[in-house]
Amino acid sequence: MFDQIIIDEKNKYILSKAIDYNRVNHCYIFVGPEGTNKRKTAIEFSKAILCSVDNKPCNHCTSCNKMDSGNHPDFIEIFPLESSIKISQIREIQKKMNVKSYEGDKKVFIINNCETMGIPAQNSLLKTLEEPNAGVYIILISESKERILPTILSRGQILYFNPLDKETFQSSLRKKYSLKESLLDDVYELSQGCIEKAENIIKNPEEIDQFKIFRKYIFSIMKGDYSQIFEFSKWIKDEKLSNEYIINNLLILFKNALYAKVNGSLNVYKEISECLTYEGFHDIIGNIIILQGDLKYNVNLQLQIERLLLRIQEEKLINDKGHRNTV
Ligand SMILES: [Zn+2]
Repeated sequence: MFDQIIIDEKNKYILSKAIDYNRVNHCYIFVGPEGTNKRKTAIEFSKAILCSVDNKPCNHCTSCNKMDSGNHPDFIEIFPLESSIKISQIREIQKKMNVKSYEGDKKVFIINNCETMGIPAQNSLLKTLEEPNAGVYIILISESKERILPTILSRGQILYFNPLDKETFQSSLRKKYSLKESLLDDVYELSQGCIEKAENIIKNPEEIDQFKIFRKYIFSIMKGDYSQIFEFSKWIKDEKLSNEYIINNLLILFKNALYAKVNGSLNVYKEISECLTYEGFHDIIGNIIILQGDLKYNVNLQLQIERLLLRIQEEKLINDKGHRNTV
């Protein structure tokens, strides 16, 4: 199980043992940022739960074949409708939980993006978790634990899916793909250790070239070249880059630069790390995170992004002077 999925070894171990010893809990909660293979893991685990023979998942019984073709009647997965998991969806799956399973004696339900569930939906789900039907297994997938009621969290086994550290990340990718070492560094930088993002980048290597151009513009802006703000704005328009792409990449760049400053790393970020004070970095990163939050409201962020770039240059001047102006 999980041969083809790169995740933390600890999670692989916990889930494999649960299957091997036939001690699967009725509820699991997979928590971690986007791109950490939570859903792929949940599907593979479901396949093993539903598999009808030994050595689960066997990959050739009727149940495994149905899982592979994406239409197993006892495997039900829900996603947010519009932007959230609705109470009506929870009621719908509760009805399905009361119907006898079609194939064997088990049913698996996956609820994706649980962090989008409102309190009424969560309370409705809680009732199910408190009195689970025999043979019903539920996997909740969430990007954060904070938005889930503690009463729900206490009913399931929580597994954390974190971005991988550089060494684990690179050795896992080396096993699965044949890549140049320099490419591995770029992929790590761009995906921040999130393996699904990394695998997408490996399939679309032109993303790396684009990121390098992006990085070059931001570095010039950080060094105080005012004209680059306009050049950059023109470039993002020509390339039709989304606000989401721009904001996420800015966050990657500034986090990497701050990391280089803290650790004195001798990488491509070294020079840039000296352009801003610690205070400056925290200020800029804070601003980027605010913009990231605004993304979901679909506001026009172009102007705010330009303001942010000017702000970076102000922070650079503060850094060069060696002090902040006191008002
Ligand atoms: Zn099977």
